[in-house]
Amino acid sequence: MNQDAVIVGSGLGGLCAGAKLAKSGKKVLVLEQFRIPGGYATCYNRKNITFEVGLQELDGFDEYDVKKTIFTELDIFSRVDFIRLPGVKRYVLDNKNIKLHCRRETSEKELCELYPEDTRGILKFYKVITAMRDELCRLPMKRARILALLPLFPILYPTVTRYLFTRLGPFVEKHITNSQLKQILLANLFYFHNKINDLSLLYFSAGQGGYCRDSHYIKKGSRELSNALCSVIQEHGGQVICRAEVSNIIVDAGKVRGVEYQQNGETKTVYSSLVISNISRQNTMKLLPSSRNSLKQQKKAEKKSLSMSFTQINIAFTVNLKDHGVDTYQTFFTEHSIQNLQDYQDQIDGDYDIRPFVFTDYGQIESGLTEKGISYAVVLIPDEMKNWRQLEGQKYKDRKEDVSRMIFKRLEKVYPGITSHIDFFEVATPKTMMRYTKNPEGVVYGLAQKPLQSGIFRPGIKSSLKNLFYASAWTYPGGGFTGSLWSGWSCAHEILK
Ligand SMILES: Cc1cc2nc3c(=O)[nH]c(=O)nc-3n(C[C@H](O)[C@H](O)[C@H](O)COP(=O)(O)OP(=O)(O)OC[C@H]3O[C@@H](n4cnc5c(N)ncnc54)[C@H](O)[C@@H]3O)c2cc1C
Repeated sequence: MNQDAVIVGSGLGGLCAGAKLAKSGKKVLVLEQFRIPGGYATCYNRKNITFEVGLQELDGFDEYDVKKTIFTELDIFSRVDFIRLPGVKRYVLDNKNIKLHCRRETSEKELCELYPEDTRGILKFYKVITAMRDELCRLPMKRARILALLPLFPILYPTVTRYLFTRLGPFVEKHITNSQLKQILLANLFYFHNKINDLSLLYFSAGQGGYCRDSHYIKKGSRELSNALCSVIQEHGGQVICRAEVSNIIVDAGKVRGVEYQQNGETKTVYSSLVISNISRQNTMKLLPSSRNSLKQQKKAEKKSLSMSFTQINIAFTVNLKDHGVDTYQTFFTEHSIQNLQDYQDQIDGDYDIRPFVFTDYGQIESGLTEKGISYAVVLIPDEMKNWRQLEGQKYKDRKEDVSRMIFKRLEKVYPGITSHIDFFEVATPKTMMRYTKNPEGVVYGLAQKPLQSGIFRPGIKSSLKNLFYASAWTYPGGGFTGSLWSGWSCAHEILK
């Protein structure tokens, strides 16, 4: 079997690259080790509910958003329904819990009224993150073109240039004095990374600046987007094969020539003039024939620091929580006060009775994940493999129960009686993430989004081997739905140029 492009993995980066290439006339084959496509952009069914895996809030769709171009060109808007999310969130703080608007103009106004002593800092915070995000959206798709433009950066992209090496935590510490306000502005830091002194302001702004403009969920869950991208590939003559694990990348005379994969206990070979890896660099290196060069590259890849993972509690309720006191799509729990950044870091690293988390109630929108009259909600907690690695069998199950109990107690304090409406729940940990996607340590955003691993410093789409390319959260520009789609799109453009 000969192909123009074989794609290892069917996460959003792989599918987006595949869809663009197929639409441009290339013969594309996507190989996915799991039984369904999508990577984290997927769902699964439990009783009468569709459980979401990897999407709570999709940023943007405003005039600056790159996804608009991608989805228009791939005809996604006619295949997938996007639901606009209500622009209000609840924050549970040390001595109160408040509802705040999250789009820029209203949230700026509300926060300035609540914390007038920090007016300058609040205005600065929103100005910088939205300007940075808008400049990022104006960057050329191709990294090579960005590099060519570097001398003009201070004029074309002044905010990005100024804050390229800035980290979110110290930025907030410098401009904000009120500790409760710090809690609010840092409340969803853990959506991006779990190290407060490491998270790049640029990467945070790419996502948060988008959320400040607009945000959406996908009707019937994120797998609708993955399925739509698969359809584009198939309608243009391509194929997506599941339960097909790539075990080797074939290299001959310094060029990639195809792959070997395992299916139903058989080894199959497919030749291709291009291979796109939708998986981590370190796992890709393991698929290459070992040579001194590939071992060196693997060591280099392993030296980079990884992003974070999540523990996720999926909860089915017997009622719609809208009628039982929950009135926002998301509630951020950061109820233990912080005086400084280290206090917040200690909470993120602490036990689950103090760790910040977000409670997302899909019952607040017409999500299509449940029948009417009931809620399905997700608790998302920042986490790392080291907290679960040693636990096996009953001990692993018991720890999941303990963690759920601690979280339910905290939910009860804010929404009394809520746990009496629980029908059933299921816990996924970093181990679960790794088991299903094979991402090292179960991380969800590839490399940690530190300044020196973000933006132009993130590993690029091209590899040092001819005909081998990368497209995923691990690759430029970074993780999340937007980052992974963008990387797939840039990868396809690089190939088609
Ligand atoms: C709980 C959770 C909540 C999230 N919430 C949000 C959110 O609200 N907003 C947002 O923007 N992002 C969110 N994300 C992050 C986002 O889902 C991911 O960053 C993005 O989907 C990653 O896409 P990717 O292209 O890197 O591929 P991945 O999703 O990592 O997929 C890689 C694929 O490769 C396959 N694979 C691995 N090895 C092989 C092999 N040898 N052969 C064949 N196939 C292989 C895997 O099975 C997998 O399907 C969330 C993630 C999680 C887990």
